[in-house]
Amino acid sequence: MEDRAAEKKSGRQTDGLLAPVVGRFAPTPSGEPHAGNLLCALLSYLSAKKKGGAYLVRIEDLDVARCPRAAGEKLLATLAYLGLQGDAPPLWQSERGNVYRAKEDVLRGVAEVYPCYCTRAALHAAEAPRLRDGGVVYAGTCRKRSESERAQLEKTRKPCYRIAVPDERICFADGVAGVYEQNLREACGDFILRRSDGVYAYQLAVAVDDGESGVTEVVRGNDLLTSTPRQIWLMRLLGYRPPAYYHIPLVCDPAGRKLSKSEGDGMARLCDRMSPQQILGKLAYAAGVWPQPCPATLRELTDAFAWDNVRKDKIVWQTESK
Ligand code: GLU
Repeated sequence: MEDRAAEKKSGRQTDGLLAPVVGRFAPTPSGEPHAGNLLCALLSYLSAKKKGGAYLVRIEDLDVARCPRAAGEKLLATLAYLGLQGDAPPLWQSERGNVYRAKEDVLRGVAEVYPCYCTRAALHAAEAPRLRDGGVVYAGTCRKRSESERAQLEKTRKPCYRIAVPDERICFADGVAGVYEQNLREACGDFILRRSDGVYAYQLAVAVDDGESGVTEVVRGNDLLTSTPRQIWLMRLLGYRPPAYYHIPLVCDPAGRKLSKSEGDGMARLCDRMSPQQILGKLAYAAGVWPQPCPATLRELTDAFAWDNVRKDKIVWQTESK
């Protein structure tokens, strides 16, 4: 009995075997991190450490034009200032093209992956339902093309590669948002694995990296809830066990405005003025897991942490002097 209770407390049960808990923070360094980004890092850390697990950091710099190396380094320095730098050296997605290529090959063996020549303008002009992220549900136009048609199109245009999704409901219980389900065909249609410029898509990279790193829990912003069924489906196809998910509310300023990396909500200035403990206490208070906006160490926050206390509606960050 006791063993089972300890097992439940410290890790996930996988067919009677104990799977070590592995959490992660996976930022895109396209700008200076804001409080919402750092809160994801903090809650990923606290959730994993509370269960005696490991916490990893992965830099999602697939789009190297938008995410220069220096921005990733700066982000890591901010995390290190707060003590949230990860238990192993960080993974950089820009260095993992070979891994994604190998997994794309695996997917080609178990699903249909096909070239798509549709232009963005053509996709948006079609009567396709719109997605919340600005994309459209792909109607499968290029799936039906013959080899000769493809060869013809190839002469003028480099294709992206899409994976054909089944007419299948993917359902999971999110630790914050509750039960969420999606039919992939209705929600997004066949989605992109590799862009026409050769860059692997976020959905593929995240599924592969979480799987390869043995991640057992993912804490991130609510804006990624709708991407999760695609990632769960890819992980299953690749033979990985999908992690548990916790999608936290997006962080707003007191006026209800979503924080932004580019609009001066960055944390670097704050790090110049406040101690790590002051920032950690303020973040944890905003999330509902610390009683006052007063300084706290990671040890104290880990002891106090419980998912039940994390705010589920909205998280307000008191921005400075605005
Ligand atoms: N890189 C994504 C972002 O910064 C988060 C990805 C994830 O946590 O799965 O928005």
